[in-house]
Amino acid sequence: MNTKGILIVVSGFSGAGKGTLMKELLNRYEERYALSISATTRQPREGEEHGREYFFISKEEFEKMIAKEELIEYAKYVENYYGTPRKYVEQKLNEGKDVILEIEIQGALKVKEKFPDTLLLFVSPPGAEELKNRLVGRGTETMDVIESRMSRAAEEAEGMEEYDYLIINDTLDECVEQMHAVIQGEHLRCSRNTAFIERIKKELKGLKGE
Ligand code: ADP
Ligand code: 5GP
Repeated sequence: MNTKGILIVVSGFSGAGKGTLMKELLNRYEERYALSISATTRQPREGEEHGREYFFISKEEFEKMIAKEELIEYAKYVENYYGTPRKYVEQKLNEGKDVILEIEIQGALKVKEKFPDTLLLFVSPPGAEELKNRLVGRGTETMDVIESRMSRAAEEAEGMEEYDYLIINDTLDECVEQMHAVIQGEHLRCSRNTAFIERIKKELKGLKGE
């Protein structure tokens, strides 16, 4: 059996509900998943904690991490750097957990290039109006920032076809179960179970003619 976990990238427009979705997925299936915590140079939002939502660091510290190759990938998103620390991801994959990176599209494509086995999931709200309502409703950004995030969303939509699955976050509960089902299905792919296939081939050959 293939005991190493699957590397999963979850992307989606800002305000699509990725954070909410991840929290609920981990609540329900804590033992299966590990959520990578990114480093960022953006300021914490109210209620966010260093080491929980992100590692909030300075631009200098971020650039040091890049130089030391401590990040699997990084990207600039609306004026700030965001990146995925390597160590935690490798450790959790080796422990057999499915590791989720909640990152934007440039980073997603870089991860896929480095690790072609990565499962790419794209989360979208049911429509653009609803996206804006969610961003406004969250109340964590100024109207200016909301407008930049909406135009970034239009750019990001151009890359949606690069992803393996589209997950529509309409009803949260259904969306969580759908995401879990997609990931569990992915574990059953023959290409992810080569060790099992080799073993049963050998066993069958061994039994032939007995
Ligand atoms: P993201 O992490 O993608 O930027 P958030 O998880 O912060 O998005 O969600 C944006 C806002 O939308 C939050 O206020 C959240 O409570 C709300 N939200 C998330 N999922 C749903 C949903 N299925 N239906 C309605 N509102 C939602
Ligand atoms: P936010 O500021 O709303 O928390 O995140 C902004 C965007 O950055 C989101 O699309 C989020 O998925 C993305 N992001 C968060 N962490 C990382 C990361 O480590 N790498 C990359 N490339 N994007 C990230």
